[in-house]
Amino acid sequence: MSDAKQSVTGDTTDRTGEQPLLEVDGLTKHFPNDEGFLSWLQFRPDDSDGPVEIGREWVRAVEDVSFKIYEGETLGLVGESGCGKSTLARTILRLVEPTDGSVYFKGNDLAAMDSGTLRQQRRDVQMIFQDPQSSLDPRMKVGKIVEEPMQAHGMYDEEGRAARTHELLEKVGLDPQHYNRYPHAFSGGQRQRINLARALSVNPDFIVCDEPVSALDVSIQAQVLNTMNELQDEFNLTYLFIAHDLSVIRHISDRVAVMYLGQLVELAEKAELFENPQHPYTRALLESIPVPDPRVEGTRGVLEGDVPSPIQPPSGCRFRTRCPELIAPEKYDLTDEEWANIRQFTRSVKRHRFEATGANVIRAEFFGSTLPGGDAGRTVSRAIDLLVEDEWDEATELLNESFTEPSICAREEPSYEVPTEHGGGRHFAACHLHREEEQTH
Ligand code: SF4
Repeated sequence: MSDAKQSVTGDTTDRTGEQPLLEVDGLTKHFPNDEGFLSWLQFRPDDSDGPVEIGREWVRAVEDVSFKIYEGETLGLVGESGCGKSTLARTILRLVEPTDGSVYFKGNDLAAMDSGTLRQQRRDVQMIFQDPQSSLDPRMKVGKIVEEPMQAHGMYDEEGRAARTHELLEKVGLDPQHYNRYPHAFSGGQRQRINLARALSVNPDFIVCDEPVSALDVSIQAQVLNTMNELQDEFNLTYLFIAHDLSVIRHISDRVAVMYLGQLVELAEKAELFENPQHPYTRALLESIPVPDPRVEGTRGVLEGDVPSPIQPPSGCRFRTRCPELIAPEKYDLTDEEWANIRQFTRSVKRHRFEATGANVIRAEFFGSTLPGGDAGRTVSRAIDLLVEDEWDEATELLNESFTEPSICAREEPSYEVPTEHGGGRHFAACHLHREEEQTH
């Protein structure tokens, strides 16, 4: 990771100088892609030393992620399913081992701790999972479920644990009289409250909440989120709150980090991120929030295409294969309209979105009466000829080589700090659209 990136992503608050409760620095997690059993094993030709590992594929689930969380705040982490949010959470807690990077909790590196010290530290760092049903043992009564972590850490005697459990059940909005009930007797929202009580039982400082309300009805979500807010104030808790739903993130967060294909692409205070989003991916996510108007169907602009494979992520900016704002290569002298037409044409060819009935029809559909001038126009013209000859792959390759690969978006990994309009914090955006306006810091 470059120093510049580290300094930009590391801290977007105005609490610089204060020691963060948690600092994630260059955290990386790669998994071997073992879908094909032994597919990565190859044998030496002379068979002298047995098999060797050649050409093994790696799933780059989390790549070089850095941020800080300060005591008492909630950092919301949002992104589409499969973007690496849960893996990041598990790597922070060392439920899976990091490939690289550090995680400092109160100044101590969790990633470098031996298992005994880590076990002690786990008391201060708890996690709540998405599915409240599967994280509660159906054969155990609720009281014992909440008491279990206290027992594991040798906290209180039996009577003390029972008293604390009764108190916690009440704090999370449950009836303490239900101490002897089994989990199946509770609704989804109530089960998530049991999980909360269980996490709180060991008096943690920091809770990682992995999609804790996603499985709940919308009306119940707000109630559980309100309880979490109240508990945060009462117990001085710090949350890393993961969700794919921006309305949930908006409800609970102080700052928001947006993740795409294993990397953070934007990080800012909540008001700044929602009112002044600076990354095309964040803008697309915001535009995908359902509109609360019965006359408008579904969602506004939806992201095009799928998240690419994390085995071979795109070079430069990982969002470039779906970005509607890809930057034109410097070598072409194009107007904004000409470049917008080329981008639209390139995307439509790549996704085989139209019938190539004739060169004039294609030209008119994407470029109106005139093609762009110079090399760009000649390339477009050649691509149209290829389409008419039904050579879609060649046309895609030509457009890719001529317009996408020479773009700064494909050549360099972006990392910028941009001016803020709301609040006193800082604003990180991983997008080259900001390459000329970066704040000096
Ligand atoms: S760097 Fe380029 S491809 Fe990436 S988000 Fe910005 S404009 Fe889009």
